[in-house]
Amino acid sequence: MNQTKLDRKVLSILEKKIKLIHTEKGAIYLVGPIRLPVNLYGETVIFQWYSWLNSEEVSEDYERIIDKLSSQNLAELQQSSVLVYGDFELNEDALIRMHSICHTGDIFGSKRCDCGYQLKQSMKMIQEHGTGALFYLANHEGRGIGLFSKAMAYVLQENDYDTVEANVNLGFVDDSRNYSDAIKVLKALRTKPVTLITNNPKKLQALKESGMLVSGRTPIWGDISEFNEKYLQTKIQRSGHLKDEGTCPNE
Ligand SMILES: [Zn+2]
Repeated sequence: MNQTKLDRKVLSILEKKIKLIHTEKGAIYLVGPIRLPVNLYGETVIFQWYSWLNSEEVSEDYERIIDKLSSQNLAELQQSSVLVYGDFELNEDALIRMHSICHTGDIFGSKRCDCGYQLKQSMKMIQEHGTGALFYLANHEGRGIGLFSKAMAYVLQENDYDTVEANVNLGFVDDSRNYSDAIKVLKALRTKPVTLITNNPKKLQALKESGMLVSGRTPIWGDISEFNEKYLQTKIQRSGHLKDEGTCPNE
């Protein structure tokens, strides 16, 4: 599959759209923006899309990086991405959402959690606000335990374990999600203050500790049903989620 030499024209097109971000372990290569028209509740909304790749290799010789792609089997590893709306770099106030991937909720529309609803709802909130970004974090499945382990956790949940107990009994910490890469990408795209869409104080904390200017928090509610009531209660009682206005939190 590997071609012998990268075409000059191809390289010159791609080089302009790649950004190198240094990390503790190497580098993040951010590609974008790419125009992405999205069907949002029946309306076509234009977002700008970026995806990023973590690598131990740190190089501004993008030809090397591009050359290696076809042999890296990237489809076996998940990459994260971000949808940006409005003039994200310069507008004064931006809404940010850090969304953890949820195969069952986002793709199948599972009612066991409220992730699918939150995904669409936060995109809508960002569009209505005028400026913002939705980070879709691909290594966060099942609070960082992965899809297969999440299936195991669901089996335990069908046998009366709550979300936290299920993860702990499988040998995982309750929540192993890390936001540092997403925050690095955020900082590369914007330095002005952001408002975070979340009910989760850990996410707010991670963002503040990174040195990012945070103007506040906007809660996200909704889609409570008989199928996820217990899951949402566990979030409040066990995972420290904030309970606003007497409704149940999501995420
Ligand atoms: Zn979910």
